[in-house]
Amino acid sequence: MALIEVSRLEKSYGAIRAVKNVSFSVDRGEVVGFLGPNGAGKSTTMKLLTGYLRPDAGTAVVAGFDVVEHPVAAKAHLGYSPEGAPAYGEMTVREFLRFAAELRGLTDPAQRVADTLKLCRLEEVAGQSVDTLSKGYRMRVGFAQAVIHDPAVLILDEPTDGLDPNQKFEVRRILKDMAARKAVIVSTHILEEIAELCTRVIVIAQGEVRCDESKERFLQRGADLNQVFRKLTA
Ligand code: ADP
Repeated sequence: MALIEVSRLEKSYGAIRAVKNVSFSVDRGEVVGFLGPNGAGKSTTMKLLTGYLRPDAGTAVVAGFDVVEHPVAAKAHLGYSPEGAPAYGEMTVREFLRFAAELRGLTDPAQRVADTLKLCRLEEVAGQSVDTLSKGYRMRVGFAQAVIHDPAVLILDEPTDGLDPNQKFEVRRILKDMAARKAVIVSTHILEEIAELCTRVIVIAQGEVRCDESKERFLQRGADLNQVFRKLTA
């Protein structure tokens, strides 16, 4: 069984069918780029996978645990950085990660915080409150809380959104370093991110999967990725 198994997921908000019959699976070692225009249903799918929202129908299974039936076990294997990487702004980076480590019930929170600060290159700002950080550092704090328990499954909603090229490079580098051991889903609307980071691409539009294939195959669709994207999502 793959680390992520999504089967026939459905979710509506009132009359809006945000996610329609979505199925896919993700194995260890895969970094799936989740692409789609605004409003396509990417965030909703991620929220269903992380158990934050309950599906109207279908199932999401993380590391063998159904996220609705066994939410605690599923969440133990899952790290999630929501869009905008929200954090408690008045806490320092170290305090926030300590809080995340304690919420996770980790046996050695101080060590995990130290390891994660190092991994995410946050040591130099560890004593600074989150509110005072640049956007690049704030996004890395969101990423750091998602990986503090070294989860097998990582779900990242636009982790490089709004970052400058150096900051993007840094987040991608950290992610690539750990990707071989994990199943990762990264939503993005930055098409260059696919070639840089992903092994596979899932395109979603109007709540439906429009394409699910290897990065190599996706890149063969055309030299102009913007045009490929428009064609698939129109
Ligand atoms: P994406 O992440 O691809 O931009 P979303 O999953 O956020 O897409 O949204 C999918 C659709 O569901 C959109 O039409 C959006 O307006 C709608 N939607 C998202 N969240 C809510 C909500 N809390 N209440 C009502 N409609 C929502």
